[in-house]
Amino acid sequence: MDPLLTLASVIVTPAALVTLGYAGLCWVSPFKTCKRCAGTGHTTTRFLRRPRACRRCDRGLRLRTGRRVFNYFHRLRAEATR
Ligand SMILES: [Zn+2]
Repeated sequence: MDPLLTLASVIVTPAALVTLGYAGLCWVSPFKTCKRCAGTGHTTTRFLRRPRACRRCDRGLRLRTGRRVFNYFHRLRAEATR
């Protein structure tokens, strides 16, 4: 077998598996728990520790980065082909 082909398959196969796995994860579970508020949906202020709604998420869930990218290109394509 050609050593370059072996090297290419060793590099490309794990990268493709990781990419497809992340795409599948974004398709099956598009939301993840917010790390800022640990899924509670509210944080405390630095001064006096008063409870406040988390600005990064909506009720403790955030859209995954991969899903956000997919939505961007999906909307872009929909606007372009309209
Ligand atoms: Zn949050």
